[in-house]
Amino acid sequence: MKELPIPQRLILTDILKKFLKRHHPKHSEIDKDLAKRWAGYWGERALANYVKELPQEKYLIFHDLELQLNGIHFQIDTLLICQNFVLIIEAKNISGTLYFDNVFNQLLRINPDGTEESFEDPRVQCQRLHSLLRRWLVKNGLNMLPIDHLVFFKSANKTILKSNPNIRADFSKVCKGRDLFNKIEDCDRRYKQVKIDLEKINEIGKLILSQHSPKKINILETYGLLEKDIPSGVMCPNSTCSQIPMDYKKGKWICPKCNTISKNGHFEALLVHFLLIKPTITNTECQSFLHLPTKDITQKILLSLNLQTTGQTKKRMYHQWPNPESYFILEENHIKPILCSKKVPPCVSP
Ligand SMILES: [Zn+2]
Repeated sequence: MKELPIPQRLILTDILKKFLKRHHPKHSEIDKDLAKRWAGYWGERALANYVKELPQEKYLIFHDLELQLNGIHFQIDTLLICQNFVLIIEAKNISGTLYFDNVFNQLLRINPDGTEESFEDPRVQCQRLHSLLRRWLVKNGLNMLPIDHLVFFKSANKTILKSNPNIRADFSKVCKGRDLFNKIEDCDRRYKQVKIDLEKINEIGKLILSQHSPKKINILETYGLLEKDIPSGVMCPNSTCSQIPMDYKKGKWICPKCNTISKNGHFEALLVHFLLIKPTITNTECQSFLHLPTKDITQKILLSLNLQTTGQTKKRMYHQWPNPESYFILEENHIKPILCSKKVPPCVSP
């Protein structure tokens, strides 16, 4: 089973919100987008939790899968593979009264004040994924199983689904909450024939994992931002202060505003540099980005971080840790950097 990670885009947007200069005009756009992404993530989490209840010996399960077909990137929230069929499940987390407009194939949310918001019809979205996955499997010589798809809505009580009363539309592929299990049972009934053996399933699983390739995201570019929109320096970890920069004195970071002390504040700052700005840093860039007093101190800090390097002396380039996103965890519904765990090198005091 491929576990559900915190999506890269969600991590990057969350960090961007935290580190973008205060009063920057893009804040409200990023806030809105971030709220949507969080809702999407909780939808995927709810789906992943339901899927955990399925017999694990029967289904091969993947979450947040990203594949490519002829340069087209596509992402599948949850994919189930068994000996009889493949099932794509798209998670949605939209509360309120939702109206499937079967004339224009769109999903409308009707707000309490009567205003309407439109979303892409998730059934159309699923059909696209369905067709892309089928072509992907054909291309890889693994097109032995029938494919089906489902749209899953997270909340059974907070989401009300409606549609045009006079048009016959197919909702057999839409479900809410625990109804998911009935829909999967429907698939079991519909696709009775065993098409492949367990060995073949494992082969498909291995191929899928080896081809899983998350798209690199340049988050500043996504929002039309520049490097100068991210303030340089270590951010004060006291969340009521969040002053940037902190001062480096005698091996510690001290906040000039609230006197909070941090031993390894540079770790988060460098993660931010690697994720938002670029994946490498030189001594000079680092000295200026962290507001460090001397080159020697900068080098001492850089060396303490176990970063891969290329080049010599002045031109030496320090490269980001592999998968810098993995140094962020979810704690009380917030994304935070992991500090001082065994996994993280900055415990080595500079
Ligand atoms: Zn402070």
